[in-house]
Amino acid sequence: MTVIGVLGAGQLGRMLALAGYPLGLRFVFFDESADAPAGHLADLRSGRWDDASALQAFADEVDVVTYEFENVPVAAASRLAERVPVFPSPRALEVAQDRLKEKQLFRDLGFGTAPFAAVESQDDLDRAVASIGLPAVLKTRTQGYDGKGQRVLRRRDDVLSAFASLGGRPLILEGFVPFRREVSILAARSRTGETAFWPLVENVHRDGILRLSTAPAEGNGGALAEEASALAGRALEALDYVGVLAIELFEHDGKLLANEMAPRVHNSGHWTIEGARTSQFENHLRAVLGLPLGATQATGFAAMVNLIGETPDPAALLEIEGSHLHLYGKPARPGRKLGHVTLVEPTRALLDAALGRVASVVDEPALSR
Ligand code: AMP
Repeated sequence: MTVIGVLGAGQLGRMLALAGYPLGLRFVFFDESADAPAGHLADLRSGRWDDASALQAFADEVDVVTYEFENVPVAAASRLAERVPVFPSPRALEVAQDRLKEKQLFRDLGFGTAPFAAVESQDDLDRAVASIGLPAVLKTRTQGYDGKGQRVLRRRDDVLSAFASLGGRPLILEGFVPFRREVSILAARSRTGETAFWPLVENVHRDGILRLSTAPAEGNGGALAEEASALAGRALEALDYVGVLAIELFEHDGKLLANEMAPRVHNSGHWTIEGARTSQFENHLRAVLGLPLGATQATGFAAMVNLIGETPDPAALLEIEGSHLHLYGKPARPGRKLGHVTLVEPTRALLDAALGRVASVVDEPALSR
């Protein structure tokens, strides 16, 4: 039986396992936390990322290693790669962990991005603000997620206070993009080199956290979706990438600007479980095993609503015709992703109606746009 080793054991890992069981796969997870959500349904080895003997024992148990968490130290991934195939490669992980390297890669591949500059000191920041202008966004280069580790600079005063709170770590200043909307493209590349692209997804964030994804994004089938797939295809080739890659983009003035990428399955792809012919989770597994990729077309109009901070009454959500509820088995905490609901309908009007029913149960301003 093929054993997949997964670094990180959060909800993404849990959904990977759920997609892998019908394929006859077995899973072993590695996480620093002994009670991570994937441990409820598969073996979980817990240890520190720098514990060489724990990593070695893990490598000996599995046939291939992948990640569901992108802040796995590159050194841990590289150490594992000496003993067992690791996909995506530690190099892809390294680029995706650093907002500066990521933006440089996007630019080298000819993608549009917000203007950006590396910032190590108050002087660097002053120079960067002088050339990029305000408003701008100051972000930590590493370890940021869900809007953490970033500040929007609107006035001169913000420049000093933002450096005081974020300084001491490598930073990046980006021009603030007054985007029309945020979109993401999910792509997969198999060990065989085969690639596949899901339809473009439209995303709504609040306080830096994804709230709502809809797919296919309106206006899809048009130039934007094709452009996004072409961009993702170039990134897959450049990184000799294996697995699912997600790229988040801004649409501004009819053009796409790449913001960041995730070297793993992604929250904006959860709708694919019920809304696409093959889910991101299944195709990620097929990719890392060198199996043929499944078809990625949407089977209807899909929406995914994140359940954040508190879980509404499951019965009220399940009463909504056609709703699919996913709960991750995590204790509630403000700002924490606890689950999601997916709706798939044959028309956009029916999807909007179903989303209206979710809005009466889930207190989410993004739903009442
Ligand atoms: P990130 O961690 O880079 O994905 O940022 C989280 C959210 O902050 C994004 O989804 C955007 O809503 C917003 N954001 C990040 N960077 C920018 C930017 N350069 N201009 C405008 N909004 C941004």
